[in-house]
Amino acid sequence: MRKKLIAANWKMYKTPPDAHAYIAAFLPLVRDHQRDDIVLCPTFVCIPTVVEALRDSRIGAGGQDVSWEKEGPYTGEVSAHMLRSVGCSHVIIGHSERRQLFGETDDAVNRKLKMSLKAGLQPIVCVGEVLEEREAGLTEDVLRRQCGIAFRDISGLEAAPLIVAYEPVWAIGTGKTATPEMAADAHSVIRAEAARAFGDQVAETLRILYGGSVKPENAAALMSQPEIDGALVGGASLDPHSFARIVKY
Ligand code: PEP
Repeated sequence: MRKKLIAANWKMYKTPPDAHAYIAAFLPLVRDHQRDDIVLCPTFVCIPTVVEALRDSRIGAGGQDVSWEKEGPYTGEVSAHMLRSVGCSHVIIGHSERRQLFGETDDAVNRKLKMSLKAGLQPIVCVGEVLEEREAGLTEDVLRRQCGIAFRDISGLEAAPLIVAYEPVWAIGTGKTATPEMAADAHSVIRAEAARAFGDQVAETLRILYGGSVKPENAAALMSQPEIDGALVGGASLDPHSFARIVKY
């Protein structure tokens, strides 16, 4: 039985004081919640505040992106080692907003994934099709390509901490959600690609999250699917009460 992970992606919202106030409100709401793992992914500038505020809790912190380089003259970049050094346990890689708005390629995702695993982070690699691809019947091909390239040159042993988020791009921030059947089909394609790259045992334990307009109202239906091992939540994670309701679906 895979333990579910409920992860918040705050995107480019919240200042450090906002983050502090959020956690002061959020912690009492989930204090007794043991069932699932929980991670908050704020912007880089909020990470120290979030890590400090979460110190006596079992909730993790993660970055929203990472450099594929170890260090060097790469203005604006933040390394995996730096994320570890400020207390991050996780990092989101290949979010569709980075792929679509900032030109991130499958190859870049692979390089970032390798660097994050080396640094001891638990990467959350995002994959998912755009609407035109789904309508053209290309969802499976897209997921195979994204996973195939992301997982390249990584051993089964190295891949153990990996987490994947299936995020159909047409469902992100739109209020539309994939049906549980759509998500289950996509998750089985992703698990098959993981089996091909890392072997059956790693694929069996791989957590595959669903992301795309998860809300308190639909969280229970999605999370009750055995193939869905948690959620990556954007908009509805920005309010501590709404995110706590999702965590406690
Ligand atoms: C996301 O940003 O990963 C996401 C799923 O956003 P939303 O929940 O707002 O659709």
